[in-house]
Amino acid sequence: MCGECGNTFKRRIHTTTTCKYVAWCCNTHIDDIEHCSMQFIKDEYIKLAFITMQNKLVYARKQILKPLLDSLHTNSNDDNIARVKEIEKLLLQNTEQQEILTRFRVQGYLDPAVFSKEHNELLMQVDNYRKEMEALNHTQSDDMTVASETTALLHFLNRAGLITEFDDKVYEKFVNHIIVYSRQEIGFTLKCGLTLRERM
Ligand SMILES: [Zn+2]
Repeated sequence: MCGECGNTFKRRIHTTTTCKYVAWCCNTHIDDIEHCSMQFIKDEYIKLAFITMQNKLVYARKQILKPLLDSLHTNSNDDNIARVKEIEKLLLQNTEQQEILTRFRVQGYLDPAVFSKEHNELLMQVDNYRKEMEALNHTQSDDMTVASETTALLHFLNRAGLITEFDDKVYEKFVNHIIVYSRQEIGFTLKCGLTLRERM
């Protein structure tokens, strides 16, 4: 999105005598330079800015994302969020119970039939929790969307190390759109609602 006129950008291939490169141009600017002065930006620079942003997020995820999540959990009157937290706890407990059961079985303290029955009950419980969680996640509540997007991003960042290459799958998964403020600065608006500015 163009920070000057609000229009969308168009992907174009620019050709010079020595090379070809992908660039993004404001649609208004293409139609009429008088109406928007925003010049094209190179795709390569956007990708570099994204890499920098992702690495910063890996470092500062706790400072940036945790407060967002905490404020949702504490301030939101949305019962759904409380229930999701509860289910997460119940799922953990369930995993522990399954482990104990398996240990007892391996050590010979449990009859196979009893083990099988109890284990199946636990698995059914997991199934029910997951279904409920999914239903909760699909409720059209803004808080829920922000919470689940932020959690997904946080989980991803916890596992991700620093990167040197652009990954379009990561981009697609977490970025909603880009705001071009100028040729030197863009902002990545993430699906969790945050916009992170990055110099180019
Ligand atoms: Zn524009």
